[in-house]
Amino acid sequence: MTAIIDGKAFSSNIRIRVADHVACLKDRHGLVPGLAVVLVGEDPASGVYVRNKGIQTREAGMASFEHKLPAETSQEVLLSLIGGLNADPAVHGILVQLPLPAHLDAEAVINAIAPEKDVDGFTIGNVGRLGTGQKAMVPCTPLGCVMMLRDRLGDLSGQNAVVVGRSNIVGKPMAQLLLAENCTVTVAHSRSRDLAAICRGADILVAAVGRPGMIRGDWIKPGATVIDVGINRIVEGGRSRLVGDVDFEAAVQVAGAITPVPGGVGPMTIACLLANTLTACCRISGLPDPAWPG
Ligand code: NDP
Repeated sequence: MTAIIDGKAFSSNIRIRVADHVACLKDRHGLVPGLAVVLVGEDPASGVYVRNKGIQTREAGMASFEHKLPAETSQEVLLSLIGGLNADPAVHGILVQLPLPAHLDAEAVINAIAPEKDVDGFTIGNVGRLGTGQKAMVPCTPLGCVMMLRDRLGDLSGQNAVVVGRSNIVGKPMAQLLLAENCTVTVAHSRSRDLAAICRGADILVAAVGRPGMIRGDWIKPGATVIDVGINRIVEGGRSRLVGDVDFEAAVQVAGAITPVPGGVGPMTIACLLANTLTACCRISGLPDPAWPG
């Protein structure tokens, strides 16, 4: 029988661990981890994400600093804010909500974040560290995926893993993490030939494409573990709902385990942001890294 991987329960477990660890840091070291989130402009979806991040940060006992700037903010002003956050000892994690308005140079802004406070793991420094097997801040969504895989499968050594999608925020870091877990990794993308055949070879299949239901049931190896990162809003019969990149109804007949959408990878992302903020606080303060499930 196919196991449904419950991202809601798993992420709640991580948030409880974070809150417990934060309480310990306060008691023993007088430390309060702080996360600064920078939002430029009035994109409604970004506004909702930022609000949720703030609520969950405070619920975990951490300090939340929200910086909301007008859409017309200049590069200079934004870089100066980041410089201030880099130097602020109360801030251990800095996240710039993407996308930024088009007149801003997002790459330059992200790379201005001090690598040790880069809780999204998007700076060149952290990308390079992850790629060379050094201690890095790891992007939240792939980190959540690998935690769930380790929890489900234990040692991932020797597994054939296929990642569909090669974005900088999901596909590429996911592939690096699976390689670090000793998987044999294939990265597929829009130019890959015979995607169905590539997917059928996967013991672990990670879909991060952004196309509703693109991965069909007969592309999945019987017993495979399927992680569906996709979040796509579709309208059916006048009603809107979220679906993943995998045809869930068909895949659930074949896979050994699968993450649902919603309720799979999605809730793990903010939980891993909190986990990364706590990790950053420990590293900056010279304390050991916290331990995570999986
Ligand atoms: P991007 O658009 O940046 O990347 C999509 C990737 O999919 C690209 O590498 C692209 O290939 C590949 N692709 C597109 N069409 C095909 C195709 N027909 N066959 C094979 N590969 C294809 O998306 P993201 O990585 O940012 O996000 C992917 C999905 O994950 C989205 O649905 C997004 O909403 C979701 N997401 C979910 C998160 C969560 O918290 N659960 C967090 C982040 C993203 P190419 O490079 O050749 O163009």
